[in-house]
Amino acid sequence: MSKFSYRVLLLALLVLITSLFSACSTEPKEPVQVEDDQSILGTFGQIRVFAASEKKGIKAIEAAFKRIQYVEDTMSTSVNDSDVHQINQAAGEASVKVAPETIKVIEAGIKYHQITGGRFNILLGSLIELWGIGKPHQKVPTDVEIDEARKHIDIQQIEITNNKVHLKDSDMLMDLGGIAKGYAVDEAVKVLKDHGVKSGFVNMGGDVYAIGSKPDGSPWYIGVQNPIIGANNSIIRVPLVDRSIVTSGDYERYFVENGERYHHIIDPATGKPSRKQLVSVTILSDKGMDGDALSTAVFVMGLEEGLAFIEAQEGIDAILITKDKEVYVTTGIKDQIEIIDNQFKIAN
Ligand code: FAD
Ligand code: MG
Repeated sequence: MSKFSYRVLLLALLVLITSLFSACSTEPKEPVQVEDDQSILGTFGQIRVFAASEKKGIKAIEAAFKRIQYVEDTMSTSVNDSDVHQINQAAGEASVKVAPETIKVIEAGIKYHQITGGRFNILLGSLIELWGIGKPHQKVPTDVEIDEARKHIDIQQIEITNNKVHLKDSDMLMDLGGIAKGYAVDEAVKVLKDHGVKSGFVNMGGDVYAIGSKPDGSPWYIGVQNPIIGANNSIIRVPLVDRSIVTSGDYERYFVENGERYHHIIDPATGKPSRKQLVSVTILSDKGMDGDALSTAVFVMGLEEGLAFIEAQEGIDAILITKDKEVYVTTGIKDQIEIIDNQFKIAN
């Protein structure tokens, strides 16, 4: 081989190797789907992500569950040294130094009390304890007991100074069960995004957040559960991209006494499970915490007031379902949702 043709061959080989190498490095790798579930926050928690590698996906999910566990450990009423437990123990006596996250959720709870006309109340602990729904001591209390417990739900009795919280009424109990799950979802989403996740979802027992769209660019489709007791299907499909969807209903946590069913969403005005015509309320919002608090509050408001309330909130949408299987949807998402169980009909 001449010197010249040898050089040409070497050059051609070099071009081939370089082009092969650059093809490998620029071709986007298919994202890997990684999923895990855990029993957490008293519910079924599930996280699915699409990540650059399986290892990265596992690491992201582990960190997200760790963050949710932190929220449970600081805000649960039943964890012995949680912030909320300590606040309740010290009620009427002392203020308690708590984590900044706890302050944030309590302050959000106070805000939601204000904007929902008191329907959302993080100080219903005395009533929740009295009814004991889901606990061994669950029972229908007497009206006298209910009236007594209702004396200890006044939001003015909470005092926040710097990083300390004080309940001024010694019979008062804080309960963040209607808001902390949504907050935990938001925190998990933050952790996943910090780990580079651009597509996935977090589902904490019905509080869901969809991160981005699916890798093929299509939206996530989230099902709204059939609120009829015993039914296990989805009745409505909602497309979701970078948004939260949260449902509160009367069909999951309840007990039956003398043929009457008593569920866990308490109307602060009566001290009893809210009895309006609704069976479930689904809220779509940017933040899970907003959806969590508002789904509970709108359930208590009932159909007409709840629908008007959500229509007036910027960036929030809702799906309200009545006992008669009527579905009411706010204008922002009317064109997007799809009924997949035709026992249910859109009524507005
Ligand atoms: P939502 O409608 O979002 O909330 C209803 C809950 O909020 C009620 O259960 C009550 O706690 C409270 N509430 C009722 N009425 C009102 C009102 N008018 N305003 C404000 N709040 C109201 N469950 C377990 O079984 N075991 C556990 O150990 C456990 N630990 C938990 C720890 C944390 C930090 C959290 C957030 C939840 C935990 N849970 C646990 C679940 C909890 O008990 C509630 O059942 C759950 O948060 C209710 O969520 P939801 O979406 O079903 O209903
Ligand atoms: Mg809620």
